[in-house]
Amino acid sequence: MPTRPKPKLNLRVLILVFVLFAALATLANSFWVMFKIQKQELIDSALQVNQAYATRIASGVEQVLSSDQKRLEYAAGLLGGSFGDARQLEGEARRLLGQDNSFNSVLVTNAAGTIIASAPEHLHLNGRSLQDPAPLEQRQPIISKAFKSIAGNLLVFVSQPVFDSQGQYLGLVGGSIRLEHKNALQDLMDRQVRQDGAHVYLVDGNRRVLYHPYPERIGEIVARDPIVDAALSQGGGALQAQDAQGVEMLAGFARVPSSGWGVISQQPLGNIQTLLQGTMSKVAKGILPLGLFGVVLIWWLGARISAPLSRLADSAKRLDSPDSYARISAIPAQYFESWQIRRALLLGTSLLQEKIGRLNQQAQSDALTGLANRRAMQDALAHWQQVRQPFAIVSMDIDHFKRVNDTFGHGVGDETLRAIAGLMKQNSRADDLPCRAGGEEFVLLLPNSSLRTATEVAERLRASIAAADIDTVGHITVSLGVSLWQPGEGSITAALEKADQLLYLAKQGGRNRVVAEQRSLAVS
Ligand code: GH3
Ligand code: MG
Ligand code: MG
Repeated sequence: MPTRPKPKLNLRVLILVFVLFAALATLANSFWVMFKIQKQELIDSALQVNQAYATRIASGVEQVLSSDQKRLEYAAGLLGGSFGDARQLEGEARRLLGQDNSFNSVLVTNAAGTIIASAPEHLHLNGRSLQDPAPLEQRQPIISKAFKSIAGNLLVFVSQPVFDSQGQYLGLVGGSIRLEHKNALQDLMDRQVRQDGAHVYLVDGNRRVLYHPYPERIGEIVARDPIVDAALSQGGGALQAQDAQGVEMLAGFARVPSSGWGVISQQPLGNIQTLLQGTMSKVAKGILPLGLFGVVLIWWLGARISAPLSRLADSAKRLDSPDSYARISAIPAQYFESWQIRRALLLGTSLLQEKIGRLNQQAQSDALTGLANRRAMQDALAHWQQVRQPFAIVSMDIDHFKRVNDTFGHGVGDETLRAIAGLMKQNSRADDLPCRAGGEEFVLLLPNSSLRTATEVAERLRASIAAADIDTVGHITVSLGVSLWQPGEGSITAALEKADQLLYLAKQGGRNRVVAEQRSLAVS
């Protein structure tokens, strides 16, 4: 039979590997989906929060600027009536400066752009010309783009035109906001620096940074940055994009309507990922104890499921052993497959045992007569000797059997042997063992029998054979020798030889007779 190599994996390991694989794959998948959803949610909410921040700050900036404009507008109204009074102009400039901390300086120019009044005094601005002529040309309220002052400071100039009562343009009144300096706008912005890496900054229409939590960036012109582009071109919104430094940002933005500035609130995407990793590692730590418990449970269940099958497989190796039926019956089979395999194995075992029994019987019996053969006889004798079981031996030989063969042929001779065997069976008890020792010689073994009983049995057998009318042959006779074996009495061979010698004596004595061993009464 061709044999395949024995598999190295067993059912228990297979169950464990498959279940673990399935569990881990499911877990990894849920973990991945959870990660993706969480990430998207965090991104969406960061975008929303940033947009809300930007909108709020833009409206704050708008309020500051419009209140500045209103104060300047009020002052312009006052100055229109007293433009020639230098002292009043100076007084108004000082009043505007001192009103709150909106402006770093306040000035009044005439229509030609020459500063005719200013505060604070120490700047000595009077007599100088306005740097940017645009407000003079436009003659309307203006918030300038950021620019560098003569003193090198970064400024934004807010101005209102001054007209007299006839509507004649007289000049302007304006305040400069020094961007690096502490003032109302700066306060508004600084308050919005957040801890989660989010920051807010302000750019003007020239992409110049007006405010930034990192002061060194104030005044810088932002180069390519889609977030700044969006902030300056759209009213408001949110987007994820790389900023000018190449950092992926989640940004919200809003426009300040009166100045055309853009407010940007943004935070690096990396911060979200760090936050997410922290959350996911917490989730993983939470899952771990239950996961380990699951592995132990799977291991235990795998053992339980595979135990009957591995025991059945183990028993299948030794189906020929006599106790295999009982062993297989004792294996518990809680589920259908193991029950079915156990049933098949039990069936196989009983068939095999039956076959072995039949083969044993064939090996132990004589084919012609069905009596025990010489080997079976020897086995029985050896066993009795071992268990110290006394027994009697009746040795029997057919008289003049050659003649039967010669007269009627071998076939009739065989039939005669069968008939004699039948008579032997009839004349023996259940415990006795009639054997064909070879040819036309027979032995009847009588365990636990006295010499006298054995002699009686022998005599009865002789008489019944002599009386029988055997087919074709008619009457034939036998001669018999009877001996006894008792524990401690020497070999079985000697006892058999003794019976043969007595049989020989019977032949010599004229055949058709029994010669028994002579013993004292005590043993007979
Ligand atoms: P005796 O009375 O002295 O025993 O005379 P006998 O003719 O029976 O002599 P012996 O016991 O020596 O006979 C043996 C004969 O038995 C020889 C053989 O032809 C015959 N025989 C032995 N085995 C078989 C057998 O299986 N079948 C047949 N038909 N004959 C057998
Ligand atoms: Mg013989
Ligand atoms: Mg003979």
